[in-house]
Amino acid sequence: MAIYYGGYDLGGKNVRAVIADERGEFICEPCQEEVDKSRGPGGVSCQMVRLMEALAQKEGISLKNIVAYGVTAAGPLELRDPPILEEFGESIKDSTNIVFPDLDRPEYQKYVIEDIVYIPLGKPLKEGLNCELVKVINDVNGAVLGEFWDGVGKGYDDKSNLTIATITLGAGFGGGVCQNGVVLEGHYGNAAEVGHFLSGLSKGVACGCGKLDCAEAYVSGTGIAHNGVYTILTTPDGFDSPVYETAREVAWGKVPDEIDDKEAFLKENPYLVLDYITEEAERTRVLRENDFQSGSYQEARQRALSNLPGEIRDKERFLAEHPGFVLQQVNSEIICAQAKKFDPVALRVIMEAQIALGNVLHQMAKAYNPRYITYYGSVIVHNEDLLKEPAVRIMKRGLNVEAPCFVRSPIADDLGLHGGIRLAMQQYSR
Ligand SMILES: [Zn+2]
Repeated sequence: MAIYYGGYDLGGKNVRAVIADERGEFICEPCQEEVDKSRGPGGVSCQMVRLMEALAQKEGISLKNIVAYGVTAAGPLELRDPPILEEFGESIKDSTNIVFPDLDRPEYQKYVIEDIVYIPLGKPLKEGLNCELVKVINDVNGAVLGEFWDGVGKGYDDKSNLTIATITLGAGFGGGVCQNGVVLEGHYGNAAEVGHFLSGLSKGVACGCGKLDCAEAYVSGTGIAHNGVYTILTTPDGFDSPVYETAREVAWGKVPDEIDDKEAFLKENPYLVLDYITEEAERTRVLRENDFQSGSYQEARQRALSNLPGEIRDKERFLAEHPGFVLQQVNSEIICAQAKKFDPVALRVIMEAQIALGNVLHQMAKAYNPRYITYYGSVIVHNEDLLKEPAVRIMKRGLNVEAPCFVRSPIADDLGLHGGIRLAMQQYSR
């Protein structure tokens, strides 16, 4: 009997599936659908089962011949063994990407435990696919597993000491490490949190994790945008920069005719509140530290609520009086595009991104001594010219171990699926 493996890549937007043969080679084109959010948290695994059934039927394969499955999923994940709830198994927990519109419905309440929404995967997939070997792995760990076997590691016949690290630079900054086919997970499952390695910069810019000066605060998409806003605020003539000008053009198209729900408007545009903090030093501190819980921010928020106009007749005036609304539109695409045109504000932000990335690569080289560090993710893939060579130079500076090759993943688009298939194969061979 021929045996097959099933692989899934479950992202925030799309879910993909593929079937591979006993050597791990895909036997078909992967199929893809948008994640179905209309049937509640329990609907996601149903969709995944249906995708696999359709794929198997198309290929003329019985599901009985698929002996194991691996799922690469964007986290955070709940992988505890035994699971938090027997009927869930491995789950996605508190996802910011997969959000369900009508979560209040009574039949969905069983997925909400202590205000945390769980999307069960392990148990319902085992039942739906009628297979005991189903395992879930986080997206970067899945990616590095795929990279090890099917990406840059593919050509190595002897993989006994082969060590590969992978980073992803998109909205966030994550990483994984794989040696001899084993993903380094750490005692608590949190190894290789490379985005939160120290950047080597000490501006005191807040990271999403709450700490100051992590690499992610300078080189992720979110970090580049945030540091860009801070740089505009603290550079003389920063508001004359083309970065601000471009953001202003975007903002122009977004000014509403009226603001009927001011609370919601401020929630969507937290930087707008900064305009109501009168003291400049405090304004930049709050922004730099993302300290939106502070007394000064809360007071400013009250002032904003009572002073915001209900109706906006003069857009020009609104934008002139609310630079925070313009700053809200600054993103990594604008910064990178302006850096390529040598705008000094954008160049400073990118230089700091290069330093943060270079320092992380340097620390990864020392911590894991990998043969390769590969990368994927929109921020780095679209801006290789800005980030790659400078970061490699910084990585090599004073490095007392062998420098790894820093290259784009040759299978960047399918890393998650390859990771899923390899995870399935690992289980079956155990
Ligand atoms: Zn951090």
